[in-house]
Amino acid sequence: MKNLKFNEPIFVTRPLLPPIEEYEKKLNEIWDNRWLTNNGPLERQLQDKLKEFLDVDNIELFVNGHTSLEVAIKALNLTGEVITTPFTFASTTQAIINNNLTPVYADVDSEYYNLNPDNIEELITDETSAIIPVHVFGNPCDVERITEIARKHDLKVIYDAAHAFGVSVNGTPIGNYGDISMFSFHATKVFNTIEGGALTFSDDDLTYKFKALKNFGITPDKEEVQYLGVNAKMNEFEAAMGLVNLDHVVDAIVTRKELYEKYLECLADLENEGEIKVIRPKKEVDYNYAYFTIKLNSSEKRDYIFEKLPEFNVHAKKYFYPPCNEFPVYDFEKNTPIAKDISDTILSLPIYLSLSVEDVERICKIIELLLRDL
Ligand SMILES: *Cc1c(COP(=O)(O)O)cnc(C)c1O
Repeated sequence: MKNLKFNEPIFVTRPLLPPIEEYEKKLNEIWDNRWLTNNGPLERQLQDKLKEFLDVDNIELFVNGHTSLEVAIKALNLTGEVITTPFTFASTTQAIINNNLTPVYADVDSEYYNLNPDNIEELITDETSAIIPVHVFGNPCDVERITEIARKHDLKVIYDAAHAFGVSVNGTPIGNYGDISMFSFHATKVFNTIEGGALTFSDDDLTYKFKALKNFGITPDKEEVQYLGVNAKMNEFEAAMGLVNLDHVVDAIVTRKELYEKYLECLADLENEGEIKVIRPKKEVDYNYAYFTIKLNSSEKRDYIFEKLPEFNVHAKKYFYPPCNEFPVYDFEKNTPIAKDISDTILSLPIYLSLSVEDVERICKIIELLLRDL
C-alpha cells in the first residue's frame, strides 16, 4: 500500500496559470499605459471579451466575486429576508448579512445539492425580498421553477454562479438567468484573474449603478457621490491575467473533462456497490468540470478517507462543510437536514490541469484500498 504514496503533494486544486511570457507581454502594456486601476484599458478589453464568452447582455467586472455579490444585493435595494441555501461557501450568507438582511435557509435537493424549489414557497413572508441560490459545483439550479416562484411573489433573484463559469443549460448560457448572476474569478476557480469577479445582468440601467457602487458611490458621469458604495474595482494586473487565461480556458475544460471521466471509470465499482455517489452534470447542461466530488455513505467514512489521504500525500477537501447555518458566528435555525447530511459526507477530490490520468488512477486505487480496509 505504501508504494501508492505520491512523492510530491497532490493538492485538491491548483490555479490555471498561463505561460509566463504571455503574462509578461501584458505587464509591458501596463507599464506602457501607466494605468494600474480605475476602469483601465485591460479591464475594458476583458469586459468585452467576457461579455462575448459568457454570452450575456451586460457584464461588470469587480476586484473579487464576494464584493460583487455584496454590490449586487445593494444595487437591488433588498430589504428584510432573503431565501438562500445553507450548502454553499461562507461568502453567499455573509454577502446577505453584510447588507443587513436576514438569510432564511431552505433545504437543498439530494441529487445536485442546489436550493430545492419545493422548499422555497413555504418560507416566503411579507418580509421576503429575494432568493439567492447557488449553482453548486457548476450544476445549474432549477432555473425555470425559481423564475416562476420569483415572478409569482414579486421577488428578485441573484444567482451565486461562482462555480458555473462557461456553463449553459439547454443551450442558454447560465449568466442569463435571474436579475443578476455573480461569477468568481478567484485563483481556485476554472477561470481566474488571480482574484476577481463579475456580475452579469439583463437590466441595462444597472451598469451605471454598478460603476458607481464599485467606486465609492461616485457616479461615472457627474462625479457625484450619489450612493453609499465600496471600493471593488478590478485592477489591471487582474485584468491582464484574465486576458491571457481566457485564451486557455476552453482547453482547460477539455482536460478537466478527461480527468473527470477517468475518475468516473476508476470509481465505478465503488459507486455500483453503493460505497460512494459521484456528483454528475445534469443531462441538459454544458458543464465545466470545475470539481470532482463524491459523497460517502457515512460521515465516519468521509472523515476517515479525509484523514488518511494525506498519508499518501493526497489532499481532499470537505466542501462545503459545515453548512452555513451551522457556523458558530451566527445563530440561525438548523432545520435543513439534507444539507447537513451532504455536508457531513461530501469530499472533493483533486482535479487540476497538471494532474495526469495516471495520478487519478492512483488516487482512486488509494480510496478503494482505504474503503475496503474499513
Ligand atoms: C469562490 C466562491 C465565492 C466567492 O468568490 P471570491 O471571488 O473568492 O470572492 C462565492 N460563492 C461561492 C459558492 C464560491 O465558491
